[in-house]
Amino acid sequence: MQNTISNGPSDGGGGGQIQRSSSLAGDVYEAIFSQLMSLKIAPGSRITVDSLVKEFGVSHTPIREALGRLEGEGLVLKAHLIGYSAAPQISRQRFDELYELRLLLEPNAAGKAAASMDEAKLSILREAAGVMGRRDSTDERIRYSTFARQDAVFHDKIMAFAGNELIRQTLTFQHTHFHIFRLMFHARVTEEALDEHEAIIDAFAKADATAARKAMRDHIEHSRDRLRPAFD
Ligand SMILES: [Zn+2]
Repeated sequence: MQNTISNGPSDGGGGGQIQRSSSLAGDVYEAIFSQLMSLKIAPGSRITVDSLVKEFGVSHTPIREALGRLEGEGLVLKAHLIGYSAAPQISRQRFDELYELRLLLEPNAAGKAAASMDEAKLSILREAAGVMGRRDSTDERIRYSTFARQDAVFHDKIMAFAGNELIRQTLTFQHTHFHIFRLMFHARVTEEALDEHEAIIDAFAKADATAARKAMRDHIEHSRDRLRPAFD
């Protein structure tokens, strides 16, 4: 199943706001995505097509296209006669449910992925983790939204290598990473996660299933503990 999280940035690129996609619609999508992830567009707030048209200096068509795509990802809602709004923040209960689901599925998947690890898969995961670590965008918001997307890619690749498509799709369908990263816009969310991803990669490099399960469990628990203050 192809989905949008597979369309990660092709390379680091420069610091410009619009840098990743070759199509105008894609550029506009990335720009709005970044504003949603970094909370520049606040959860629950109205999104008017006209104001985005003015802000980006483009026509209505790419804006509507981008909003439609974001609607499919659960980040934007469209109400009849009212128009678009940013999806509200997930509730504390949904947050706990998402992490419980991840803890049930992802450590086990990491163990399975480790057991069938090879050099080709390892380099794909290293690449995904490496893209996250790059600090070449001068715009903090772009960097944050890039990290959110790459984190989704990194975890999705591990699910793919674990080999159960049903479990992989179940997690993809929740758009977990987009909702989680939108809780808080903070450098700590990304800095610490990078070290934890390193630990996961180290376990994969040794094809150590036990260590991979533990590293994934630690990472998800720490991620949960980092973001919980968003509800205080
Ligand atoms: Zn992660």
